[in-house]
Order: sequence, then C-alpha cells, then structure tokens
Amino acid sequence: MQIESIYIDGFRNYGRVELGFSPGLNLVWGANAQGKSNLLEAICYLGLASSFRLAPDGELIRHEQEYFYLRGKIQRQEGPLLLEAAAGRGKKRKWKVDGEARLKLAEIVGLFHTVIFAPEDIWLVRSGPEQRRRYLNRQLAQAYRSYCRDQLLYAHVLKQRNACLKACRGEESLLDREQLSLWDLQLAEAGARIAACRERAVEQLAPMAAYIHAQLSGGEELTLHYADSAAGKSGAKSAAEIQAHFLSELERLRPNELYRGMSLCGPHRDDLLIRLDGRPARDFASQGQQRTAALSLKLAELELARSIRGEYPVLLLDDVLSELDQNRSAQVLAYVADKGQTFISAVDGHLAAKVGKRFHIRGGEVES
Ligand code: ATP
Ligand code: MG
Repeated sequence: MQIESIYIDGFRNYGRVELGFSPGLNLVWGANAQGKSNLLEAICYLGLASSFRLAPDGELIRHEQEYFYLRGKIQRQEGPLLLEAAAGRGKKRKWKVDGEARLKLAEIVGLFHTVIFAPEDIWLVRSGPEQRRRYLNRQLAQAYRSYCRDQLLYAHVLKQRNACLKACRGEESLLDREQLSLWDLQLAEAGARIAACRERAVEQLAPMAAYIHAQLSGGEELTLHYADSAAGKSGAKSAAEIQAHFLSELERLRPNELYRGMSLCGPHRDDLLIRLDGRPARDFASQGQQRTAALSLKLAELELARSIRGEYPVLLLDDVLSELDQNRSAQVLAYVADKGQTFISAVDGHLAAKVGKRFHIRGGEVES
C-alpha cells in the first residue's frame, strides 16, 4: 500500500500544499517546530480517521482558518482509492471515498492502513494498560472492519451497563436488575469477540516483536503476553469460551460491581504484558530499551498487518532516531529498507539510507 500524493489545506501549520511521494523512503526533515510531525499526522489521519496525537478535529484546523481539508491518492492491491476528509469549526467532519460521501467511521478506518511510531509511543511500554489497549485497538480496527464495529458496540454497552450498575445501587429495583442481566449478555458477547481477536493478534505479534527486538538491540529477549480479565486463568481462547467465562466472572463480581458502580472485568480492563529479559519492561528497562521495545511492537504490527492484508501498510516513523544510539539507529534503517513505503522525520537532512524523496519543511512550507 502507498500514498501517491496528498493535498493539504489548512491542516495544523500548513496552508495549501500538494506533495507527491516516493514508493520507497521519504525523508521529512527540518528544524524543530516547522511541521514535520504535522505532515505525518495529516497522512495518518487519512488512515485512522483521527489524529494519532489524539487531538480533536478543532485543534487540527489551522489557526485563523475555518476548516481543514485533506485529499490523499492511495494505491492498494485492490486498486486506487481517493480519500477526502474535511472538518469545520463546530461542524461535523465529512468523508468521501472515491467521491462518495461516507457517514460511518467503520466504513473509513483502515481503507488506507498506516502504522505510526512517534516519540510518545515510549508510553506504550512505560505507562499504564490504557495505552497498550489503545495500541491493540488501533491496529485491529484498521485490520478488521468487524473489530471496529465491536469496539463501538462495546463502548456503548459498557457506558449503559455502568449507568445501570449505579442505578441498581440505590433502591432495590427489579427492573434495573433485569436490565443489568441484558447488558451482561451484550457486554460478554461483544467483549469476548474483542478479547479473542486481541489474544490471536498478540499470539502472532509476540514472536515477530521478539525477533525484531533481538535484531535492533543485539540480542535482548522481548516477550509479550495478553492478560485477559474476562478469561482469567481459565485458558479460554475462542470467543465462545471467553464469553462463557466472562459471564461467570460477571456473576462472581456482581456484589463488588454494584458496590463500586462500575464494570470490573472485560477488554476495558485488560493489559498487554511486556517483558525484557524476563522482567517487566515498564519497571526495569532503560529509556533506550523501552523505546526499542515500543518500536519493535510497531514494526511487528507492520508485519502482522501484512500477513492479514497481503501488503505492507505505510510506515511513519516520527523522530525515531533521535534517542537511539548509532548501532540501534543503523539497525532500524536496515530493517525498514525493504518494508514498502516509509516516512521518516528527522532534524537532519542526511540519513545513512537510500532515500527516495526528501522534503525540507520550513514553517509549514515544503521544498522537495
Ligand atoms: P519537532 O522537531 O520539534 O518535533 P516538528 O517539525 O515536528 O518539530 P510540529 O509538531 O509538526 O513540529 O509542529 C509545527 C508547528 O505547528 C508548531 O510550532 C505548532 O505550534 C504549530 N501548530 C500546531 N497546531 C497548529 C494549528 N492548528 N494551527 C497552526 N499552527 C499549529
Ligand atoms: Mg515533531
């Protein structure tokens, strides 16, 4: 998969600009605060249908402008694809795919598949479980349309169920209790599908991430394990098995959930455990090791996406080399050399790799 060109109007610090890209390595370079990450964010927006920096649409609109507009020409195995996104201040954003309006997020996410690694991704290893769940969600939503639907459904059911748990806490209401059982069933159905999909993905990711990390680091051992709160220690792996266990867990947790007014088990409480040489990477790994582990996870995601879709997604590496030593940087460049279309942002215009196209960014203006 590749993005042939992008037209940007009013996105972050960009006015109107049209850029054509190399199918190989694209180097986006320039001093700090010029718009390198913003350009990668614009490309990524077309795939994720949101900012990888989690910024709301309003923040993406150029100051003193009323809207942003992005148009990307994508080449996929299935053929070309034209994606257009527009958002105005205080207005709902609009999407077009090959000129036709699309309303549902699930119809857009993943049409154009990107994998991005940014400096803040070190939090994937360093912070709490939420970041790691987001990592799994993002890549699976792009890879499987059904996962995206399940995620939206799960979020809705979870919200309703939590409200119901709170309602049950007050007066002993028979109606609320009956309603709660219905929510249990829906939560367990959608939740088990999500957990099973994540389980499968982690099983596939683990050996790839371990292999990549060993290469980049010169032999460190990275292990991944999905901690599934619905399946617990039951060993359940399929959606049906997880669902059955999930329902009995909800039964067991009921008094505690009613007391606390919240759902205590399910994919929203799960974690992806990351260990380096047998120890939790979050607590024991150095900054460089954590960055390498996070990068290995992203590169494994790239490989997983290829095995699912039959072609590499577009890889975006924002400022990836700045905190890695010479050895690790060289290994990263060697690794991505034959991984399809790649964008690397850096402050330096010289890269020890074969660059297809260079873009010098200055104050939101681009010189090719
Ligand atoms: P660094 O090397 O420090 O990572 P960068 O080139 O990646 O720098 P960007 O993150 O792309 O820099 O940001 C460039 C500039 O865009 C920043 O100065 C920021 O203030 C500005 N900017 C961010 N959002 C908007 C917006 N909505 N409108 C106008 N400018 C914006
Ligand atoms: Mg940047």
